[in-house]
Amino acid sequence: MDSIKACLDAVRQRIAEAEQRHGRPPGSVTLLAVSKTWPVADILAAVEAGQVRFGESYLQEALPKIAALPGKGLEWHFIGPIQSNKTRNIALHFDWAHGVDRLIIAERLNAQRPSHMPPLNVCLQVNVGNEPQKAGVGVKELPVLASAVAALPRLQLRGLMAIPPPTDNIGEQRQAFRIVREALKRLNDSGLALDTLSMGMSGDMEAAIAEGATLVRIGSAIFGERTT
Ligand SMILES: *Cc1c(COP(=O)(O)O)cnc(C)c1O
Repeated sequence: MDSIKACLDAVRQRIAEAEQRHGRPPGSVTLLAVSKTWPVADILAAVEAGQVRFGESYLQEALPKIAALPGKGLEWHFIGPIQSNKTRNIALHFDWAHGVDRLIIAERLNAQRPSHMPPLNVCLQVNVGNEPQKAGVGVKELPVLASAVAALPRLQLRGLMAIPPPTDNIGEQRQAFRIVREALKRLNDSGLALDTLSMGMSGDMEAAIAEGATLVRIGSAIFGERTT
């Protein structure tokens, strides 16, 4: 099995090649290493290989990992679904929350973000496939939610996040990501100043970068296949 450093280097290479192929400036795509299910030792191996941004989906698992890695200047992103009972610990311990899809959740995060911390960076999760069982706000409902969240002082609305329906077809992958890119453009045309498109995972990062992703969330290509 390849080392975490070797896998991380290979992912960085894939990102650089996709940036070049699709006319994106070098370094315009940020790599978030998704460390959910993997132990602190694996995160440390990635840190030693220069990685500073990590994504976690399960709060109970993430909190002890964050506590075990203080003082290293790491940036923690909560990328899982957010229920009301999780907002306090997300507001206290994370730098970013990507899965915000309801105003009530944003209002709780805003109220619970301590005043001595910088505003919590937030992405609104968009349900691109309009899949009924999936999390995320519909594209039609997005403008109203975005302007309400942008007005909350303890949050910094940064952009949109999406997890499109899985497919191996690159054309279908791009079509889903294009919907997110166009939704972000409409929000910015209407007066917001959003800079983040959080989209692309191990299996579809090239399509996401082609459609303007600024942050890709990569787990298995760095740490290995998850068994849980
Ligand atoms: C697990 C997860 C990822 C990483 O997926 P991989 O296919 O392992 O790269 C990205 N985003 C979210 C929201 C996830 O839950």
